[in-house]
Amino acid sequence: MNCSTSNEDDSNVTPQDQDPIANDDDTNDDDTSNDDDSNDDNSDDDNTVDLSVYQKIYAATDIYVDGDFVVIEVDGTPDHGSPYYQDTQWSSRYEAYDDKDFHLNPNRIASFDRKVRIPLNPEKATNHQATSLGTMGIALNGVSFYNQYAGPNNQPLTDEIFSFDQYNGHPQKSGEYHYHLEPVHLTSQDSIGTDGLVGFLLDGFPVYGPKENGVAVTNDDLDDYHGHSHATEDYPDGIYHYHITAEDPYINGNGYYGTPGTSTN
Ligand SMILES: [Zn+2]
Ligand SMILES: [Zn+2]
Repeated sequence: MNCSTSNEDDSNVTPQDQDPIANDDDTNDDDTSNDDDSNDDNSDDDNTVDLSVYQKIYAATDIYVDGDFVVIEVDGTPDHGSPYYQDTQWSSRYEAYDDKDFHLNPNRIASFDRKVRIPLNPEKATNHQATSLGTMGIALNGVSFYNQYAGPNNQPLTDEIFSFDQYNGHPQKSGEYHYHLEPVHLTSQDSIGTDGLVGFLLDGFPVYGPKENGVAVTNDDLDDYHGHSHATEDYPDGIYHYHITAEDPYINGNGYYGTPGTSTN
């Protein structure tokens, strides 16, 4: 993990430093609450729509078309071990992390009844909305993607990084586990790899791993939103897509390229 933080020397950590998660992301759980979730009319379902790329979200319990959106249902719990499974109903998934710089935050993983609605035919927006704190996308294992900030007013991840577990994730106050950085559990899988599709942002554009043709993607290769357009294995006709980089802002840059759908728990 290439965190460009200046205080990675953790030898002088104070007890306060172990509490940064008290204000991690927890002011923002309602950011997507304006989802028009009452509209469960699936009558617009189009059985001719090819959903195969979304079916790569292997953690999904249901995937269906609703109007101009594809709806993906997940419970949000990671399919890998984590120290944040300690004292939960999934304690069998507990996996210790002995890194000397790691600080377990006080939160523990919870599950959700999450519906992620993303545009079926994503398009470039004229006004690029900022990503909110909270879920800005979904990884193939159903875990949320969060942006590069730890809290309101663009608080950097500087301290929070030390609470990331061995899979680069951690839960916020309500137990929502999420990645701000590369989902290494996915990119280490042979079927995905460091150059594969790892998920989608809420605007429907796909997110790819940190390499392309064996070469690490850098911010210089990407636009302000942290993406670019070309053909991919999943989209042979070409598509705009985000890339994860080892450097800040990691997943998304200056907002959504398209118009975001919603994620509701
Ligand atoms: Zn976080
Ligand atoms: Zn690319």
